[in-house]
Amino acid sequence: SRDEKIAIIGSGLIGRSWAMLFASVGYKVCIYDILSEQIDSALKEILVQLKKLEESGLLRGKISAVEQHKLITGCTDFKECVAGAKHVQECVPESIELKRKVFEQLDAVADDKMVLCSSTSTMPASSFTEHLTHRAQCIVAHPTNPPYYAPLVEVVPAPWTNGVVISNTKSLLEEIGQTPVVLKKEVLGFVLNRIQYALLNECWRLVQDGTISVEDVDKVMSDGLGMRYAFMGPLETAYLNADGWKSYSERYADTIFNVAQDFGPTPRMEGETLEIVHNDLASRIPLDKLNERRAWRDARLAGLAKLKKEM
Ligand code: NAD
Repeated sequence: SRDEKIAIIGSGLIGRSWAMLFASVGYKVCIYDILSEQIDSALKEILVQLKKLEESGLLRGKISAVEQHKLITGCTDFKECVAGAKHVQECVPESIELKRKVFEQLDAVADDKMVLCSSTSTMPASSFTEHLTHRAQCIVAHPTNPPYYAPLVEVVPAPWTNGVVISNTKSLLEEIGQTPVVLKKEVLGFVLNRIQYALLNECWRLVQDGTISVEDVDKVMSDGLGMRYAFMGPLETAYLNADGWKSYSERYADTIFNVAQDFGPTPRMEGETLEIVHNDLASRIPLDKLNERRAWRDARLAGLAKLKKEM
């Protein structure tokens, strides 16, 4: 990877994270943004973050924070940023018009080999690449926030994505220490958010019908289900809870089916329940303290990531 280049389009939260991850294994990273001040602040903030990570022993890769930072440069010219890159990671805001526009720009300057990869959380690549000359090189790699500590990346090819582009994207993500999962086909919301939304909906319903408090329903995850889920998924959890899946099915399939019949329609996250959920959280975590709480969260996620590596 040493002499190869990665281009990042959009230098917000996710663009900065990708830049750090690619530089951690020695890639030359070039960052582009429509706002030049965003590029400047990205380069400054990345240095601060890399140094902090180094001090706390959490820096990824084998080279120092300063060396990693030297690999990251900014560029105010789109074409120059992309030129010679083996992989372009698009990180502009989540809007279909913007994704279309940026992928048309990429299509105009791409060579026949570079991977054109979007960080989109929800939009299938087929919805913004169909008309492009280089559409076979387009793919989605949806990271999990914060990417430095939560390594999962959903790789979602469009129906026309070339197989080599899929395998190269997967290998690149593994090389930088992330955990790629490749979806076999496009699906609305991808997989992580479909599962997350199922959970959010049920938490919402349980608060809405007065079964449990906001604080306690969150505890069910953080001190219950989440303890296991940090190490294994729900399917393996169930497998271990009985003597394999056949035995789990014999014991619990009817119960699960019957309980699931009771879930009811999909709730809308608005109205009275929205007031209850928001006010309850705001009383414990005021809106002007969100950054402190995010730092608290990231420190814990870093600790968990370290534990998972050591075990
Ligand atoms: P952000 O708002 O923090 O950053 C977006 C950046 O793109 C800004 O710096 C902006 O100036 C720049 N930009 C806007 N238009 C541009 C253009 N035409 N060309 C180049 N740069 C442009 O957004 P973010 O949170 O980093 O999200 C980026 C993408 O990553 C989105 O698609 C989002 O859905 C996805 N994503 C976000 C998260 C998350 O938790 N934030 C997680 C996974 C994926």
